[in-house]
Amino acid sequence: MADFVIVGGGVYGCGTAWELAKRGAEVLLLEANEIAGGASGGLGKRGVRANGRDGRELPLMRLAYEQWPTLHEEIGAETGYDRQGHLLLIERPQDLAPAKAQLWLQNNQGIPSRLVGYEELHEMEPMLSERVQTAVFCPNDGIADHTATTRGFAAAAQKLGAVVREQTAVTTIEQQHGRITAVITHHGERIPVGKALILLSNHHVVTVLEQQFGVGLPIWTLLPQVMFTQKLDPMPIRHLIGHAHRTLAMKSHPTGQIMISGGWRGRWNEVLGRGETQPDQVAGNLAEAVAVYPSLAETAVAEADASRLETVSVDGIPIIDHIPGVENGFFGTGWSGHGWAIAPAITQLLAEWIWSGEEKLGLLRPFSYRRFSL
Ligand SMILES: Cc1cc2nc3c(=O)[nH]c(=O)nc-3n(C[C@H](O)[C@H](O)[C@H](O)COP(=O)(O)OP(=O)(O)OC[C@H]3O[C@@H](n4cnc5c(N)ncnc54)[C@H](O)[C@@H]3O)c2cc1C
Repeated sequence: MADFVIVGGGVYGCGTAWELAKRGAEVLLLEANEIAGGASGGLGKRGVRANGRDGRELPLMRLAYEQWPTLHEEIGAETGYDRQGHLLLIERPQDLAPAKAQLWLQNNQGIPSRLVGYEELHEMEPMLSERVQTAVFCPNDGIADHTATTRGFAAAAQKLGAVVREQTAVTTIEQQHGRITAVITHHGERIPVGKALILLSNHHVVTVLEQQFGVGLPIWTLLPQVMFTQKLDPMPIRHLIGHAHRTLAMKSHPTGQIMISGGWRGRWNEVLGRGETQPDQVAGNLAEAVAVYPSLAETAVAEADASRLETVSVDGIPIIDHIPGVENGFFGTGWSGHGWAIAPAITQLLAEWIWSGEEKLGLLRPFSYRRFSL
């Protein structure tokens, strides 16, 4: 028995467990495999980026900007947070007007951003191709170590009394008269739910809502690809890099390698039961990187991975809400490939909502399930 039962040991489950435990809640977190074994773990680091982000998520990024620099002190564990600044590169004239509109939106939402002209840009990034004309610069953007941070959240929650159980998959949810009463694990154990159940198990949320509550979500899964170059000396990039029209994101990693990603995908291998990379996707991602940093033409891919399932929602932002018709059930999913950066903000607001019965700031309202209904 626990007052608050959380399903899923990714950044959302672990962050919410810590936030609830901080408020004095009795928390039990159930994770099917291991902490940070899903989208919140794996190769490299994750971008903590506001630049180019959906306008509905910018207020969350403003809050997350305040949290990230001191999060390691709060949880007593390294987060690997490094504020490198993000450059959204622009090559084509037709991308300038939309970039200026996004720039206006970001500044209006309290995200300091500015346009960087050709000369300054090439001073900031001397190895950049001459074809790149300008960029939107967000100095407060950076990167963080997702695996370390997620594990740090779990450990911090445990220090405050939360119980974290790995290798414990939830298979069934019991309800009576619109209230969740218990969960059943794959060991057949029945765990009563005292006050609330919080489903933060990413792709599993979609299945469980459909199968056990009859609630469909406009969400699908995909396998984002990330890859590492060999060690590079000198390191060709100095900032976190995105691109207005190319499918490309780049980060310099403390190992002296570049992490390349941005939207290329793996495929599911039915036999192995896991995601794997596809040669054309690896080659395509590298080609995009070489197009903007020509010196990378000499570089080989040292490692590529596409084993971490992520959920994507039809309008590109998550769904965070009460389970429809269930008084004491909450869920969050559909992070759409950019759920990492805003996780500290969302978990804080979600815990406040669950604990007090109200999300006072209203920052989670744009992510309600009701937005899909008339
Ligand atoms: C390769 C990749 C790169 C990314 N890059 C960025 C980036 O640069 N910037 C950014 O902002 N975001 C990025 N994201 C998105 C971000 O990492 C995710 O949105 C975020 O980590 C999702 O966290 P989560 O806790 O919801 O999910 P997960 O980390 O997937 O956690 C869900 C957990 O639930 C568990 N679970 C599933 N079923 C059950 C069950 N029945 N019972 C118990 N537990 C269960 C799983 O084992 C898993 O550990 C990236 C994602 C990927 C995959």
